[in-house]
Amino acid sequence: IPVLTLSGVTRRYSEGDGFLEILRGVNGQLWPGQAVALVAPSGAGKSTLLHIAGLLERPDGGAVAIDGWDASGLDDRARTALRRDRIGFVYQFHHLLPEFTALENVMTPQLIAGLNKAEARERAMELLDYLGLSPRAHHRPSELSGGEQQRVAIARAVANAPALLLADEPTGNLDPETAEKVFSALMTLVRATGLAALIATHNLELAGRMDRRWTLRNGLLVELE
Ligand code: ADP
Ligand code: ADP
Repeated sequence: IPVLTLSGVTRRYSEGDGFLEILRGVNGQLWPGQAVALVAPSGAGKSTLLHIAGLLERPDGGAVAIDGWDASGLDDRARTALRRDRIGFVYQFHHLLPEFTALENVMTPQLIAGLNKAEARERAMELLDYLGLSPRAHHRPSELSGGEQQRVAIARAVANAPALLLADEPTGNLDPETAEKVFSALMTLVRATGLAALIATHNLELAGRMDRRWTLRNGLLVELE
């Protein structure tokens, strides 16, 4: 079963007297272990699509299914639970908690999910280690480089072992060398865990190294060769 199924997803925003139709019937499927690049010009609707796929926003029409489960009929509480269980997010800016160490930041989602502190700590250390960050575990975000901060954000996003990772320009704010490290960290996780990742990026070189490429054209999703 696909991790993510988008069926006829529509979204429009009111603009003046009329509407701006951003998504006009988006269809797509994302399978376990796949990294898919979402490449489209600014304003094409990438963030909107990621928010809808991540159950942060409801479409006006169509349906989003996670692991084959249609989320349309769920109330907000059930959508939040499904999101916490199955979906991780990475943004262009890391949004780490500044007063917490890297380790504590990665532990937080697991503590919220009800794991005990020892378990959360072990899993968080394992992930940090896996991403080459164990020497940085006890540093606060302000003491980390931009690439390290973003890798900690990735570790946090996958701390609860989600099935789906949604990333909005995760390397957008980084120099090429750092972007490469962050991208490698993402791909390593996808390859090692069977995670499915949808990654919005303007970086065509990185997009070329993912398994598939999607774009948005006139509000429709188009698979690129
Ligand atoms: P992208 O991520 O590809 O740059 P977005 O999804 O952020 O595109 O935005 C697509 C279009 O929708 C833009 O024209 C943007 O101004 C508009 N838009 C996004 N969110 C809202 C909103 N909440 N209200 C009104 N218009 C919005
Ligand atoms: P191993 O190679 O030892 O079998 P795994 O491939 O299961 O390990 O996992 C490699 C790393 O990724 C470990 O640090 C593990 O904690 C982490 N991990 C495992 N499953 C997931 C998942 N679904 N999402 C995110 N991280 C995961």
